[in-house]
Amino acid sequence: MRSNEKDFFSEFQQQLKKLRPWSFLMLFLFVAFLIFSILIFTFELDPIYLQILGGSILIIFIPLLFIYIKYSRCPNCKKFMGRDVGNFCPICGVKIRSTE
Ligand SMILES: [Zn+2]
Repeated sequence: MRSNEKDFFSEFQQQLKKLRPWSFLMLFLFVAFLIFSILIFTFELDPIYLQILGGSILIIFIPLLFIYIKYSRCPNCKKFMGRDVGNFCPICGVKIRSTE
Protein backbone atom coordinates (compact mmCIF):
# COMPACT_ATOMS: atom_id res chain seq x y z
CA MET A 1 0.00 0.00 0.00
CA ARG A 2 2.20 2.83 -1.27
CA SER A 3 -0.55 5.42 -0.90
CA ASN A 4 -0.51 4.98 2.88
CA GLU A 5 3.15 5.94 2.98
CA LYS A 6 2.55 9.29 1.34
CA ASP A 7 4.09 12.26 3.12
CA PHE A 8 1.67 14.83 4.35
CA PHE A 9 4.11 17.39 5.66
CA SER A 10 3.68 19.92 2.84
CA GLU A 11 -0.05 19.78 3.39
CA PHE A 12 0.40 20.09 7.13
CA GLN A 13 2.84 22.96 6.63
CA GLN A 14 0.15 24.83 4.70
CA GLN A 15 -2.26 24.27 7.56
CA LEU A 16 0.23 25.60 10.10
CA LYS A 17 0.83 28.67 7.94
CA LYS A 18 -2.88 29.45 8.09
CA LEU A 19 -2.90 28.89 11.84
CA ARG A 20 0.07 31.18 12.59
CA PRO A 21 -1.74 34.58 12.50
CA TRP A 22 -4.42 33.13 14.74
CA SER A 23 -1.95 31.87 17.29
CA PHE A 24 -0.37 35.33 17.36
CA LEU A 25 -3.80 36.83 17.95
CA MET A 26 -4.40 34.33 20.75
CA LEU A 27 -1.09 35.22 22.37
CA PHE A 28 -1.84 38.93 22.02
CA LEU A 29 -5.26 38.48 23.64
CA PHE A 30 -3.74 36.48 26.46
CA VAL A 31 -1.20 39.24 27.18
CA ALA A 32 -3.93 41.90 26.93
CA PHE A 33 -6.04 39.92 29.36
CA LEU A 34 -3.16 39.72 31.83
CA ILE A 35 -2.43 43.45 31.59
CA PHE A 36 -6.09 44.36 32.04
CA SER A 37 -6.57 42.10 35.03
CA ILE A 38 -3.41 43.51 36.64
CA LEU A 39 -4.78 47.03 36.04
CA ILE A 40 -8.15 46.12 37.52
CA PHE A 41 -6.52 44.68 40.64
CA THR A 42 -3.93 47.45 40.97
CA PHE A 43 -6.48 50.24 40.82
CA GLU A 44 -9.10 48.20 42.69
CA LEU A 45 -11.65 48.84 40.01
CA ASP A 46 -15.19 47.59 40.22
CA PRO A 47 -15.22 43.77 39.82
CA ILE A 48 -17.80 44.27 37.08
CA TYR A 49 -14.88 45.20 34.79
CA LEU A 50 -13.31 41.82 35.46
CA GLN A 51 -16.59 40.13 34.55
CA ILE A 52 -16.85 42.15 31.34
CA LEU A 53 -13.23 41.34 30.54
CA GLY A 54 -13.70 37.65 31.25
CA GLY A 55 -16.89 37.55 29.20
CA SER A 56 -15.39 39.28 26.18
CA ILE A 57 -12.27 37.10 26.29
CA LEU A 58 -14.49 34.03 26.32
CA ILE A 59 -16.47 35.30 23.32
CA ILE A 60 -13.22 35.82 21.40
CA PHE A 61 -11.52 32.64 22.56
CA ILE A 62 -14.24 30.18 21.63
CA PRO A 63 -14.12 30.89 17.85
CA LEU A 64 -10.31 30.95 18.08
CA LEU A 65 -10.38 27.55 19.71
CA PHE A 66 -12.48 26.21 16.83
CA ILE A 67 -9.98 27.65 14.34
CA TYR A 68 -7.16 26.06 16.28
CA ILE A 69 -8.90 22.67 16.33
CA LYS A 70 -9.68 22.99 12.61
CA TYR A 71 -6.04 23.54 11.66
CA SER A 72 -4.62 21.03 14.13
CA ARG A 73 -6.27 18.18 12.29
CA CYS A 74 -4.39 15.47 10.52
CA PRO A 75 -4.37 16.05 6.72
CA ASN A 76 -4.98 12.35 6.20
CA CYS A 77 -7.49 11.12 8.77
CA LYS A 78 -8.88 14.62 9.60
CA LYS A 79 -8.83 13.94 13.32
CA PHE A 80 -7.65 16.41 15.95
CA MET A 81 -4.10 15.51 16.90
CA GLY A 82 -3.88 17.23 20.26
CA ARG A 83 -1.61 19.97 21.50
CA ASP A 84 1.83 18.52 21.00
CA VAL A 85 2.08 17.31 17.47
CA GLY A 86 5.21 15.40 16.57
CA ASN A 87 6.41 14.19 13.19
CA PHE A 88 3.65 11.64 12.83
CA CYS A 89 -0.09 11.70 13.30
CA PRO A 90 -0.80 10.01 16.66
CA ILE A 91 -4.05 8.57 15.28
CA CYS A 92 -3.32 7.15 11.83
CA GLY A 93 0.49 7.38 11.86
CA VAL A 94 1.12 9.30 8.63
CA LYS A 95 4.19 11.48 8.44
CA ILE A 96 3.18 15.12 8.78
CA ARG A 97 6.58 16.73 9.23
CA SER A 98 9.82 16.34 7.43
CA THR A 99 12.29 14.44 9.61
CA GLU A 100 15.32 15.53 7.59
ZN1 LIG B 1 -4.03 11.00 10.94
